[in-house]
Amino acid sequence: MMLRLYNTLSHTKEEFSPLDPSSIRLYVCGPTVYDFAHIGNARPQIVFDVLFRLLRHVYGDAHVTYARNITDVDDKIMSRAAEEGVAISELTVRTARQFHEDVTALGCLPPTHEPRATEYIPAMIAMIRRLIDSGHAYSAEGHVLFDVGSKPDYGKLARRSLDEMMAGARVEVAPYKMNPMDFVLWKPSSGDQPGWESPWGRGRPGWHIECSAMAESLLGDSFDIHGGGIDLVFPHHENEIAQSESVHHGAPLARTWIHNGFLQVEGEKMSKSLGNFFTIRDLLKDWPGEVLRFNMLRTHYRQPMNWTFHGLKESWTALERFYAVAEPVLATAVSADFLEALCDDLNTPLALSELHRARDVDLAGGLGLLGFSCVQDRIAAKPPMDPVAIADAIVARAAARKNRSFTEADRIRDDLAGKGILLKDGPDGTTWEVKR
Ligand code: AMP
Ligand code: ZN
Repeated sequence: MMLRLYNTLSHTKEEFSPLDPSSIRLYVCGPTVYDFAHIGNARPQIVFDVLFRLLRHVYGDAHVTYARNITDVDDKIMSRAAEEGVAISELTVRTARQFHEDVTALGCLPPTHEPRATEYIPAMIAMIRRLIDSGHAYSAEGHVLFDVGSKPDYGKLARRSLDEMMAGARVEVAPYKMNPMDFVLWKPSSGDQPGWESPWGRGRPGWHIECSAMAESLLGDSFDIHGGGIDLVFPHHENEIAQSESVHHGAPLARTWIHNGFLQVEGEKMSKSLGNFFTIRDLLKDWPGEVLRFNMLRTHYRQPMNWTFHGLKESWTALERFYAVAEPVLATAVSADFLEALCDDLNTPLALSELHRARDVDLAGGLGLLGFSCVQDRIAAKPPMDPVAIADAIVARAAARKNRSFTEADRIRDDLAGKGILLKDGPDGTTWEVKR
């Protein structure tokens, strides 16, 4: 079956034709590990997991390599570790573990390789040296910068000229830069900052060079697909291209560039101050991972996604209904339609509706759209909140009412309603049910 994927580089849907059908290679930018991942971060994880599974299905498990890095050296990591008063390694190891627990709960397969940036510093230093030697980078005041003027097609992924980029970007002007758009490959570290010895003094890598060096080490000079969220197109992916193509004599870093659209919550950009910021961990307390995954895949990956609790409840109900009628069936024409939908630029909304017709649990399970951990049982049984916590809240509300603190009583009721629990007051006391 022909696989077609939308390529950000060409702005068209293209037939996917692997560089080497016996070795399909996919690189996705992974998390910077300093805090729990939020539900927006879950989107690329789920989307590229579906792509990974689809590629394995089409080309065979042994023929697909998926690399997804962990950024474990970064200024945000440094300041969070200082705030918490813990060693950087303690913070990054703990956060990476939490990330693994979360994405496993979302049904994502582990990637083939999960390189940690700090384990590839020599490869990064070597790549920076090659960039300097070939005239694409220069060192100044303990920094090494990429010279964007040395790459005539810089801006080809973002489709912006240097002038447009300069006008639009908040570029850091620094005395040691030849051009304000030049970006950092290496920067100096003071005594208390993490740092490695290098030809330019003790320092640490810039974020972009990390991915170029890890991708080269694990996947070679050129590979098939590079992915990430749409916000990474510029500057991160543009800069990865500039670095890698400059050391590889113009060989394209990746043939196909795939970007998922952004996720908003209840129509707003997620932010802690708006109270609509949800970590995967928060949501997993109330919702099975499979419901979160199903809900994510109801929107095509390139569309902006509006994540709502109403939509989540619909997803839960739809899954329940599906499992209630599902029966293993032999591969049918409808399974072919299901696969065809996925092969058409990962059209998961269409694939899910085909599934309702086919009820082919095996195929859907294999592709991670359904049934990845026998969650059916949990779906049938688990309310969206711990029953003990609900009982406690009911007792607290009854006490508030007794004390005539009706505002507090209403707050407790509304709080439960927000979590999908409806209270019913009757002659025998208060009971609850899950709102659908
Ligand atoms: P970050 O930790 O911010 O580097 O993000 C990790 C991954 O999550 C990147 O691929 C981002 O593009 C992606 N991402 C971050 N926020 C969102 C969002 N709200 N919606 C979709 N993807 C996101
Ligand atoms: Zn990257």
